[in-house]
Amino acid sequence: MSAKPVASLVRGLPTQDGNRVPLTRLVPGYGQHGTEAFRAMDPFLLMDHFGPMVLSPGTDAGFPPHPHRGFQTLTYLIQGAFRHRDSTGGSGLLRPGGAQLMTAGSGIVHEEMPVPEHLSTGGAIEGVQLWINLPRTDKGSPPGYTDLQPESMPWQLIPGGRLRALAGTWAGTAGPARTPARIAYAHLELDAAARFRHPLPAGWTAAVVPLHGSVRIQDTTVPADTVALLGEGDSLELEALSPASVMLLAGQPIGEPIVHYGPFVMNTREEIEQAILDFQSGRMGHLD
Ligand code: MN
Repeated sequence: MSAKPVASLVRGLPTQDGNRVPLTRLVPGYGQHGTEAFRAMDPFLLMDHFGPMVLSPGTDAGFPPHPHRGFQTLTYLIQGAFRHRDSTGGSGLLRPGGAQLMTAGSGIVHEEMPVPEHLSTGGAIEGVQLWINLPRTDKGSPPGYTDLQPESMPWQLIPGGRLRALAGTWAGTAGPARTPARIAYAHLELDAAARFRHPLPAGWTAAVVPLHGSVRIQDTTVPADTVALLGEGDSLELEALSPASVMLLAGQPIGEPIVHYGPFVMNTREEIEQAILDFQSGRMGHLD
């Protein structure tokens, strides 16, 4: 088995989105022109690491209603809580260790806002939102969302740490997220000097993103809030240089054209123009 080397290392960009939510935006294609940036991690588009931050009492920090079309979001909460509502009538509460898979498909409007506890007392919040592309044949599928409760993806103890499988099979355990794109996604926590190894199908994209702490992949050190996009090989191998919290991503590339504009990810410019028109005319629905 040959271990995948680091092909490129891209630091996340500290920014804000929604109502003043600080986050680190991780797009491995930053620096490339236009929408080519979103092709680098195919079938994944980008990852936002929001927080860790402490919301103040009375806060309206969060993500008020906005649309999406053409992809899926998988939002995983590490600390705190978020309440989700969307235009299909879906609603749910995100808790630590839980996640929510939202299929924007043909179009959805959603919001993610603080829960009453944060409004009265404030509190810490941290999580990761991953954008997963949909193949052309699924971009027009009905929108919807699925709560993935913490109980459906418990921590698995592994040598030197623990792992939570969100999608695909890791350490013998399958994660609950189902996506048209073939993916594997996990949260790994390792003690300093612990090693982790996992086989991956040939030809799959793979990336390692430390949220806290740093890891080494062969001779390359990967610091926190950095995407390490891996090259050819059939296994993912890393060593923690400190206590580390790391997201692991792998997936089969979709290999189709990507045209991205704000909250929409389609295959052609015409489809983006149509998405803007459909949102502006209310055809992606609204929140009650
Ligand atoms: Mn959103």
